[in-house]
Amino acid sequence: MPDKSYDAVIVGGGSNALVTALYLARNGMKVGIFDRRYEVGGEFCSDELPSPGFIMNTCATFIRFFLCPALYDFNLRQYGLQLVMPEPSQSVIFDDESAIVIYGTKKVDLETGKMTPVPEHLEKNLKSIADQSVQDADTCAKWANIFREKGLGEKIEKWLYTPPTLENEKVLIDEIMATGDVDPRWPYMSIGELAYDLFESDAMRSYFMRLGQGHTGSYPMTVQNLMFNLHQVGSMAGGLPVSISVGGTHNMAHAMQKALSSMGSDFLSIVKLIRSSWKMEKRQALF
Ligand SMILES: Cc1cc2nc3c(=O)[nH]c(=O)nc-3n(C[C@H](O)[C@H](O)[C@H](O)COP(=O)(O)OP(=O)(O)OC[C@H]3O[C@@H](n4cnc5c(N)ncnc54)[C@H](O)[C@@H]3O)c2cc1C
Repeated sequence: MPDKSYDAVIVGGGSNALVTALYLARNGMKVGIFDRRYEVGGEFCSDELPSPGFIMNTCATFIRFFLCPALYDFNLRQYGLQLVMPEPSQSVIFDDESAIVIYGTKKVDLETGKMTPVPEHLEKNLKSIADQSVQDADTCAKWANIFREKGLGEKIEKWLYTPPTLENEKVLIDEIMATGDVDPRWPYMSIGELAYDLFESDAMRSYFMRLGQGHTGSYPMTVQNLMFNLHQVGSMAGGLPVSISVGGTHNMAHAMQKALSSMGSDFLSIVKLIRSSWKMEKRQALF
């Protein structure tokens, strides 16, 4: 871009890039975001999938963007981002027409991000699980207690949004393993193995494996980071609620883009740039 200059250039305009750009812009930098697509948002964009003529969001289906400090730091609601939070957070329907319905056991204040527990939802969730297996409901109740007593949910959520631990800092996994709550085999087990280790009913095993796909896009044979497994264990009987972005997931990207524009930053589509410079060259060749 011979006619523009930036303090920071970000290649790829996905959600992580947009959040990074917001904080750079707030610190006085003029940021240029370049993406190979026509629009910002990365995996928050919709594509023609799974078949021609069908448009759907490829990755982000439910969103926990309410955990992201940028939502509050930049008041993204003023740029059109509106989140709604349905009470049930996840459900599975089985072939025999029975179902497990799970309600978020925390309520989020979307003005501040502050969360408060909803104990009556935990009771409701355990009852829904007990309809499939009383033993599995007991397992979930045990883990819900461990999560509450040790503040594990908050620790894992913080870990999710914190840069990697430095050499001299405490590692959260070590801290968790030292409590003795976690079976030492778990860090080496796949999601599927863990499902069978934890639960006796096929319903809860398949729900656990499905949650792996929902949470991290991982398949049952994946051995994922223990923290993700624990996050999943803690979510079986509730945990964080979910939110839906009104107007579609892509509206979150729009809101961030608008906030960035208001701070003087730019989004540049590489495809558009190439096309327009190609047109220029073609036009110049004509004369
Ligand atoms: C199967 C699946 C399901 C998911 N479900 C959810 C969910 O339900 N809820 C949720 O919140 N999150 C979900 N996620 C996660 C979420 O989609 C990602 O965390 C998020 O999109 C990551 O953002 P990012 O900015 O790191 O990367 P991306 O969103 O992947 O953005 C990368 C951007 O870089 C651009 N790019 C790449 N290479 C170049 C290049 N050479 N030059 C220029 N541009 C380039 C791409 O076009 C893209 O726009 C899911 C992810 C997957 C894979």
